[in-house]
Amino acid sequence: MLQRLKDDFYLAMLTLVGAIIVLCVTPYGIYRLLSGNLLVGLADLIMVLCSVLAVRSAWHTGDTVKPGLFMAVIFCVGAVLVCISLGVDGLFWVYPFLVFVFFLVSPLRAFGLLIVMLSTLFIVAWYHPGVIFSSNFQLLVFFVTTSNTSVFAFIFAYRAQIQREELQRLATTDGLTGAANRRTLNEQLALAIRDFKLANRSFGLMVLDLDHFKHINDNYGHKTGDRMLTELIPLLQSLLRNSDQVFRFGGEEFVVLLADIRQADLLKLADKIRHGVATRLTLPDGKELTTSIGAAMLKPAEDWEDWLHRADMALYQAKNDGRNRVVAAS
Ligand code: GH3
Ligand code: MG
Ligand code: MG
Repeated sequence: MLQRLKDDFYLAMLTLVGAIIVLCVTPYGIYRLLSGNLLVGLADLIMVLCSVLAVRSAWHTGDTVKPGLFMAVIFCVGAVLVCISLGVDGLFWVYPFLVFVFFLVSPLRAFGLLIVMLSTLFIVAWYHPGVIFSSNFQLLVFFVTTSNTSVFAFIFAYRAQIQREELQRLATTDGLTGAANRRTLNEQLALAIRDFKLANRSFGLMVLDLDHFKHINDNYGHKTGDRMLTELIPLLQSLLRNSDQVFRFGGEEFVVLLADIRQADLLKLADKIRHGVATRLTLPDGKELTTSIGAAMLKPAEDWEDWLHRADMALYQAKNDGRNRVVAAS
C-alpha cells in the first residue's frame, strides 16, 4: 500500500485530499445539519461521500484520472452552493480549493474548472446583489485575490508537471538513442510474464548486437559509432509494429519485445531487421554494418530472467556461427 502511494503521485494526492475532506468537512456538515442549514449540510456530506467513493475507485481500478475529475467537479459545485448559502463565511472555503484542485486533475483542466466556478460565483453575485458579497468592493477584492491565487497555483502546478514528466523520461529512457532503458525493460518483461499467464497472450523477444562495433569506433570514430546507434532506433521502428517495444540493453545491444506473435513471424521479422540493418545502416565509406540476433518465444512457467537468458544464448550462438544472422533459442 505504501509502495503504491510512493509510486503513484496522483493516487497519493487523491488519497490525501480525500482524507482531508473526510476529516475537515464531515464535522462542518454535521454541524450545519444540526443547526438547521439543510442545503449546506447535505452539500458537505455529499462531497465527503463522493470523495470516499472516488478514492475507493482509484485504489480499486488504478485509474486516477476519472475519480480526480469527478472529485474536482463535485467540489466546484459544492463550493458554489456553500458560498450562495453562507455568503462571506463560505468564501473562505474557496481558497484551499483553488490550490488542491491542482492535485486532483491536470493543471489545464484545474484552471478551466476554476474559471467556470469563479465565473458562476460572479454571475450569481452580479444578478443577486447581497446574496454572497456585502458590497461591490468585497466582490472586487474577492475577484482580484482569487484570480491571483489561481494564476500562481496554475503556474506552480504546470512547472511541477513538466519537471515530473522530464524526470520520468530521464529515468526510463536512454540518453543517446531515446530508446527505453534497461530498467523499463525489466518492468515490461515482468508485465509480459503476467499477461502471458493471465491473458494467455504470446510474447517474443529479440536480442540484437551490432557486429564488430569496436572496429567501427576504432576506424570511423566514436561520433560515427554514436550516430549508428541513434539511427538504428528509427530503422527498427520502421520495421516493427507500433505495439512492439525497443530497449537499449547496454552498449550496442538492444532488445525488442513483441506481443501477440508466433515463432515463425518472430524469426521472419528478425531476419527482416538483420537485412534492414545491413542494407540501410551504411557507414561513411559505404561499407555495411551488420547485426546478429537471438530470438526466443516465452515458454510456460518461465520467468523473465530465463527467457532473456535463452535469447542471449541464441545471440551468442549467432556470433559464434559467423555473425550477421538470426538464431532461434532452443
Ligand atoms: P561483436 O561482433 O562480438 O559484438 O564485437 P563488438 O566489437 O561489437 O563487441 P564488444 O561488445 O566487445 O564491443 C562493443 C563496443 O561497443 C565497445 C564499446 O566501445 C562500444 N560502445 C558501447 N557503447 C557505446 C556508445 O554509446 N557509443 C559508441 N560509439 N560505442 C559504444
Ligand atoms: Mg557487438
Ligand atoms: Mg556487445
